[in-house]
Amino acid sequence: MTVLVLGDQLVRRAGPLADDPERVLMVESREFAARKPYHAKKLVLVFSAMRHLRDALRDDGVTVRYEQADSFAEGFTAFFDDHPEETLTCMRPAGRNAAAALRETIADAGGDVEFVGNETFLSTPAAFDEWFDEIPKQEAFYRRMRERTGVLMDGGEPVGGEWNYDSENRDTPPDDYDYPEPVRFEPDALTRDVMDDVEATHETWGSVEGFDWPVTRGGALDALDDFVENRLADFGPYQDAIVEGEWAVNHALLAPAINLGLLGPMEAVEAAEAAYEERDDVPLNSVEGFVRQLLGWREFVRHVYRREPRLADENRLGATRDLPDVYWSGETDMACLGDAVEGVRERGYAHHIERLMVLSNFALTYGVDPGALNDWFHAGFVDAYHWVTTPNVVAMGVYGSDALATKPYAASANYVDRMSDHCAGCAFDPHATTGEGACPFNGLYWDFLAEHEDALRSNHRMGLVYAHLDDKRETGDLEAIRDRADVVRERVGDDAPW
Ligand code: FAD
Repeated sequence: MTVLVLGDQLVRRAGPLADDPERVLMVESREFAARKPYHAKKLVLVFSAMRHLRDALRDDGVTVRYEQADSFAEGFTAFFDDHPEETLTCMRPAGRNAAAALRETIADAGGDVEFVGNETFLSTPAAFDEWFDEIPKQEAFYRRMRERTGVLMDGGEPVGGEWNYDSENRDTPPDDYDYPEPVRFEPDALTRDVMDDVEATHETWGSVEGFDWPVTRGGALDALDDFVENRLADFGPYQDAIVEGEWAVNHALLAPAINLGLLGPMEAVEAAEAAYEERDDVPLNSVEGFVRQLLGWREFVRHVYRREPRLADENRLGATRDLPDVYWSGETDMACLGDAVEGVRERGYAHHIERLMVLSNFALTYGVDPGALNDWFHAGFVDAYHWVTTPNVVAMGVYGSDALATKPYAASANYVDRMSDHCAGCAFDPHATTGEGACPFNGLYWDFLAEHEDALRSNHRMGLVYAHLDDKRETGDLEAIRDRADVVRERVGDDAPW
């Protein structure tokens, strides 16, 4: 048997690699990497992790054919020239149409492929489709997953009596909070070679310099230990906080390793649950909050993506504006937006609330085409793959579809001011809505509500904000607010004051 190992299926402890295959095929395609202006660190991460797995398999006596080719077609042709009519075994890829495209490329090269279940997830498509006729609320799916796996369960009841402790997870750290420094991974000789390759052969965004994500199974386990030991305890309460100069806060930083297959999502869930059971300093709200991200959200978005074949093209609000250049340049005097973009450019990472309430919120209220924002996230983040970025960006981030959220995550400066410390040092005033120096988020927010009134006013969760919009209309303020939004759209990358 020859196992085809795709770049985001680097799993040895489950799936076809666990069955001691005779031979393994891996293809590193230059054409694939050139399809988007990917972040340099994302290419380094994927290629280095692939090459490390190749070497680990070889060390264990497995024959690995590793093709560095211009395209997948070229790599498969080289392999099937030597092994005509071989049938490859491969985990079914999560990306839309990826299995069909692979099958066709492999057939053209003279071979065949058999797809088996994808063991990088905790729930199967068959189970989800049997449980739910329609896409349920995430919370319903999550509870089903808790019941099925027994995680944080006490018999048939949730540990602690509640399923969800989110209401305890909205604090910001005190001024003297000692932020735990996350463990980072110095590139070894192999990774440095990949960094040189990427620099020499690919047009990328961001730089290979400073690459320090884990690229091996051992590194992924060390990253998990570091999170559980040092950041899990405060993960919950500070999960929504944005702090200048603290890019990680208490986040896990595990998505890059989990999405590559280096770490199993259940391993992370079980490590968190064990910490809750064994340690006095790890509260339930932190552990449940973390478990929900993996057992609930990660699995759920994968099924939403699978069940909504047109999600990538959906655009229920009809937003058509181009992505402003600030998403690439980072040049803006808006402290929160500039900091988030700079963070992505530096490391290919921003934490969830920066992704949702800064990067997406700005694009949502600015009116960016969801597909354009999706492309940017997909290219720029080290943990981005189509199956996970599309639902999070298109559905959750900019409400291009209502598959994940019952209302748009649109917010004014008030939210950013409450959950971050950016506004204090920003060139813009979070309390002003119009006039020079007013925070751009304010004008955009009210303009967004006015622009989409027909689509959103009837949403019962938005009644209150539309009552406020009516007030602004009655007092005659709305016109000036909408003018301010136009200025913001024209000048977002300019130096303040404006
Ligand atoms: P933590 O915040 O510590 O969370 C723990 C783990 O839970 C993560 O490692 C991740 O595996 C999982 N998780 C949490 N929320 C989600 C979610 N909504 N969807 C899927 N998994 C989740 N996640 C990606 O893995 N890749 C992406 O490309 C991606 N793009 C996003 C784009 C937008 C606009 C938004 C709002 C969210 C996106 N997410 C994405 C989800 C989430 O923001 C990231 O998983 C998380 O920030 C990764 O950092 P972390 O490992 O420190 O996670």
